[in-house]
Amino acid sequence: AKTLLEVKDLKTSFFTETGEVQAVRGVSFTLKKGEVCGIVGESGSGKSVMAKSVISLIQPPGRIKEGKVNLKGENLLVKSQKELRSIRGNQIALISQDPMSAMNPVIKIGKQLTEVITRHQGLGKKAAEALAAGLLRQVGISSPEERLKQYPHELSGGMKQRVMIAMAISCRPELLIADEPTTALDVTIQAQILDIMQDLRSKNDMAMLLITHDLGVVSQNCERVIVMYGGLVMEEGPVKEVFQNPKHPYTEGLLRSLPKMTNGVKERLIPIQGTPPDLLDPPKGCPFAERCPYTMGICKEQMPPHFKIGDDRSTMCWLEDQEIKKRGDMNE
Ligand code: SF4
Ligand code: MG
Repeated sequence: AKTLLEVKDLKTSFFTETGEVQAVRGVSFTLKKGEVCGIVGESGSGKSVMAKSVISLIQPPGRIKEGKVNLKGENLLVKSQKELRSIRGNQIALISQDPMSAMNPVIKIGKQLTEVITRHQGLGKKAAEALAAGLLRQVGISSPEERLKQYPHELSGGMKQRVMIAMAISCRPELLIADEPTTALDVTIQAQILDIMQDLRSKNDMAMLLITHDLGVVSQNCERVIVMYGGLVMEEGPVKEVFQNPKHPYTEGLLRSLPKMTNGVKERLIPIQGTPPDLLDPPKGCPFAERCPYTMGICKEQMPPHFKIGDDRSTMCWLEDQEIKKRGDMNE
């Protein structure tokens, strides 16, 4: 498949009174058309800031300092606000943690949805209304005509999420960025919403960046995964390979901290000890060095590069350098 999105050395900081918080410190990855990629990592790893940077929604005191965000070869970071608004409406959509941030509380659902549709698709009122009802049905809302007449506060949390998804996909985006779309919802609704998103994705050939804490959600819904820590990508690759055979100690730690069920008994989870690095004054070496069980001398001195493993995996860890050297020695 063709490349849809190419993020190159993206750096985003927040310039606060206490100093520069380097939330995203140089992130690169690509996403193919129709591909679903999970972004995982603890809170404060830079996932949400990275996603907002991709869609140019960073507000002061935040600023994108460097990098490229190429959507089908065009760098979004050099576009005007006007161009960005049209790209956000047509090619990229964002589903945020808070559905209310996407809605106007004093305007009826129907009017909000049809406004988006008429603005982006140049349809008349009647056609837009029909399409809006169809979209609500698509996201699993059974009596859409009723819902269209309601205000956002009249809807349950799960219903609001569905309406937000309907709004996001009303413009048939090629890329949907979903930031923890499900955390606030109960498990059944969560699963339903993820099903809806998968369904839309296969029908519309939409690519997705799914940002979540939940590794289970990633293994069930994504083809690729990006593991972030301290504003950097620690490991990246096909979900199956990364989860079955993690190369980075941080990925290993995340997987170990997953609650597992063995014979119906919930095993004790082993959290990663320690705290994430201070991004006001990030360490010069590996950001995970303070918490890593394998830290070596070089780790605190020098930031590890992204070591490639095969065609489509990488790990940012000095252990891989040793692996490469070992393999080299064996070949001699
Ligand atoms: Fe651990 Fe060193 Fe690898 Fe960092 S580079 S994850 S400290 S082994
Ligand atoms: Mg977040």
